[in-house]
Amino acid sequence: MKIKAALVYEKGQPFVIEELELDEPKEGEILVKVVACGVCHTDEGAQFQAIPVPLPAVLGHEGAGIVEKIGPGVTEFKVGDRVGFSFSSCGKCEECLDGHPYACKDFNTINFGGIMPDGTTRLHKDGKDIATFFGQGAFATHAVVHTRQAVKVPYDDIDLGVVAPFGCGIQTGAGAVFHTLNPKFDSSIAVFGCGTVGMSAIMAARIAGCKNIIAVGGNPKSLKLALELGATHTINRKECDDIVAEIKEITKGGCHYAIDTSGVSDFVKKALACVRFKGTAVVLGLTGDLTINVQEELMGEAKSLVGVVEGDANSKTFIPKLLEYYHEGKFPVDRLIKFYDFKDINTAFEESHQGVAIKSVLKMQ
Ligand SMILES: [Zn+2]
Ligand SMILES: [Zn+2]
Repeated sequence: MKIKAALVYEKGQPFVIEELELDEPKEGEILVKVVACGVCHTDEGAQFQAIPVPLPAVLGHEGAGIVEKIGPGVTEFKVGDRVGFSFSSCGKCEECLDGHPYACKDFNTINFGGIMPDGTTRLHKDGKDIATFFGQGAFATHAVVHTRQAVKVPYDDIDLGVVAPFGCGIQTGAGAVFHTLNPKFDSSIAVFGCGTVGMSAIMAARIAGCKNIIAVGGNPKSLKLALELGATHTINRKECDDIVAEIKEITKGGCHYAIDTSGVSDFVKKALACVRFKGTAVVLGLTGDLTINVQEELMGEAKSLVGVVEGDANSKTFIPKLLEYYHEGKFPVDRLIKFYDFKDINTAFEESHQGVAIKSVLKMQ
């Protein structure tokens, strides 16, 4: 069928919306009319080729929409179901079978290799294959996705525009808290970075019962929102000379947990430094080289430094749980979102950079 999709033709080029051909869903796949798709830094990673996705490609990996057609063998979904998309996985390797699809042995190939799990693509233009992203390519009016990465929305009254970002940034931040840290009641946590991932971690830490939740960021407007979403303290990194000392002061010796969402090596170091003896620091940002003195900064104080992607989440079970919290008003992610028309996709990316919106979400139809 003919669809409209946002294409990136060459490294660093803006998105152009054009007509493409989308194949029918194959075995285990569904065709979804995309209603909304979140805009994420990872899309830019592909656009600027820090993640070498083959180009031209249709990016977009936080889609949500309505099932329009089911492929052969699909029993889990029916036409009309409201679904959100998450990352792709093979469903067969040890980690997938063990309930940790984010650690799938084929994760990079099927999420960043431009292909579906069966090694082919559903997108074409002028007879040529077009790469997909995260098995979705959801910057489009329609997408074919595998049922493994589709999640049924448990409520009819949740805007699919709010559902969209649960598939990546939101589950990454919340999952790091609930799965990787599983914080103890009355504990303290510091969160570096107040974007979607950081804010989701802050909201999750409040649900988990953390006593001190310290948001570290550089934008006063975001820090104010962090307080409303659950942070008990904020530190403006631009105004604070010694962030680690400030956190140690607030927590009387250091927090139990810290999460870095910035991907800046210096903040990862600070996250590790601000946790107390036996504390854990989690890395969620795309961080490059980092030098630490293992004896002094890690082993000597029995600390852990852990990396995790997609919040170690099994989206099928985790996203519905988070949507329940959202529905109950305990996880108000809508406070982060600004909507844009699909045609304004380049503006949506620009404005996320300028901090106009914490989470930009495109509405397709
Ligand atoms: Zn797998
Ligand atoms: Zn993402």
